[in-house]
Amino acid sequence: MMAIPSPLRLRLDRDALVANWRWLAAQSGTAACGAAIKANGYGLGAREVVRHLAAAGCRDFFVATWAEAAALMPLPETVSLSVLHGIGVSDMVAARTLPARPVLNSIDQVARWREAGEGRPCDVMVDTGMNRLGLRIDEAGGGALDGLNVETLLSHLASADEDSDQNARQLAAFRELRRSVPARRYSLSNSAGICLGADYAFDLTRPGLALYGGTPRAEARGHLRQVVHPEALVLQRRTVRAGETVGYGAAWIAQRDSRIVVANMGYADGYLRCHAGSGGATWHGHVLPLIGRVSMDLVAFDASDAGSIDEGDWLTLDYELSAVSAASGLSQYELLTGLGARFERRWV
Ligand SMILES: *Cc1c(COP(=O)(O)O)cnc(C)c1O
Repeated sequence: MMAIPSPLRLRLDRDALVANWRWLAAQSGTAACGAAIKANGYGLGAREVVRHLAAAGCRDFFVATWAEAAALMPLPETVSLSVLHGIGVSDMVAARTLPARPVLNSIDQVARWREAGEGRPCDVMVDTGMNRLGLRIDEAGGGALDGLNVETLLSHLASADEDSDQNARQLAAFRELRRSVPARRYSLSNSAGICLGADYAFDLTRPGLALYGGTPRAEARGHLRQVVHPEALVLQRRTVRAGETVGYGAAWIAQRDSRIVVANMGYADGYLRCHAGSGGATWHGHVLPLIGRVSMDLVAFDASDAGSIDEGDWLTLDYELSAVSAASGLSQYELLTGLGARFERRWV
């Protein structure tokens, strides 16, 4: 196969990923620190995330589906993988054959695993107030799990990124569960939950967002490093005269004679139209504001102050997650998971 160079890429910072995991592990106190790697490692590439974090000592990984689990095979030997969405009827072949644990989410799933699991370990999700996935508390405490080989009992916080009373209520409910439902380990916290303090850590934490440079709560500010740096190739440089317009809908009007650059990236790559008005890029320290509407595969920047920039140069997009989230209205999660398949993913 001919190697065709990609005109858009994600520069992915391995050291930053590992440093973020180490910080989260330290905040988790005596609990082990795992990693949520669903949605292809929040868009970064799950296989590489597993490789880098496993090398740093991370053991517990979480995907959403069996297809995601299958795509990671073969796993590094030290790694344990759990499938958060559990076992629907159509998942049983995968669940029986892949070296991953189902996270059982309902009485039906428990029955399915009793029948098909041959006594192998499973995880169990109990809902303590989110009403998303999981057994109800009364179901979990009512003997439904008796005799099951439960490795990890999980619950998930609904409002950990806010100062909500719901956090303490879920914590109390989970403590109560721990007294009544036996399991080898107990796990409650995502990234934001880790920031709520060691009380929330139990035996195992499950950060996702913060690993990848997102800021889940103010407590984490200044401790997490940006991991994802989108870069796009400049396809063309143009001179636009004062009064001329740029792009669809003539949405940007040059106030002065301007130099603009058109780069190879657009909303089909997850760089959405809501970045208009606040988006930007840099090139060798020069600031290039986004101008006009974002096209499907193209986007224009005002390069009037960017020296000798030209076709073939690479722009680095502004993509500090919390700042870009605040400016664009997209969540930090959407900013990561929306990054499209056309980006070449390069770990440095
Ligand atoms: C996605 C997910 C996580 C990770 O959440 P972040 O907010 O990204 O840290 C943890 N646990 C469960 C059950 C999840 O679905």
